[in-house]
Amino acid sequence: MRRFFLMAIAAVAFTASAQEVICHRGYWDAEGSAQNSIRSLVKADSIGAWGSEFDVWMTADGVLVVNHDESFGGVVIETSKWKDLKNMRLANGEKLPTLKDMLKCGKKLTTRLILELKPHENKIHEAEAARKAVKMVRELKLTDRVEYITFSYQAVKVLKTLVAPDVPIYYLNGDMSPKQLAPLHIAGIDYSIGTMRNNPEWIDEAHSLGMKVNVWTVNSERDMDWCINYGVDFITTNAPELLQRKLKNGGK
Ligand code: MG
Repeated sequence: MRRFFLMAIAAVAFTASAQEVICHRGYWDAEGSAQNSIRSLVKADSIGAWGSEFDVWMTADGVLVVNHDESFGGVVIETSKWKDLKNMRLANGEKLPTLKDMLKCGKKLTTRLILELKPHENKIHEAEAARKAVKMVRELKLTDRVEYITFSYQAVKVLKTLVAPDVPIYYLNGDMSPKQLAPLHIAGIDYSIGTMRNNPEWIDEAHSLGMKVNVWTVNSERDMDWCINYGVDFITTNAPELLQRKLKNGGK
């Protein structure tokens, strides 16, 4: 009987997966850092964050650029040439990074690279951005280190045709239940804390379908507690060290 209990405990311990911390736009709220900078990726890695997220756009002449907004310094990335952007500087003095810069840096680190493909106005352009990003990841031999996330339902479908079945893709837009997404065979949902608080049943629904749940952008202790208590798999935050301390203390 005792042996049975020990085996049962071991099985539970084996199946329970840890909750992981993802730095939102890198670990930017730190000295010398800036959102979506190389430094923010290095900083995320230095604190042992499980993953570091960054945003990707493609210029009109096909250069993949890391930036959150559709424009940088008043230049709309999707409709501009790289030459109009390449000398621009981030708030911390770094040059505006390309995806290649980011991936090359990431290759030297261990944190997972959470690549958000932004929804482009031109859907042909967006599909091309997806193709170029996947190709670059493959050429740099980073396929097993990168996860793809996107608000664009079309980009989810395009990415799915480009990567192996086990490469994680997450949908960000919050407008579909896990059951509705199940036919796409993607890794899971990556929804806002507001969406998840309104639809907490999606956590169990996703898990029962073999999908994972990531929640963004979880910055307050109250929201962190909610995510920890509800057993979401990944928590994307601007305050990664606070979250790490909470997880280490069993959610306290
Ligand atoms: Mg993002």
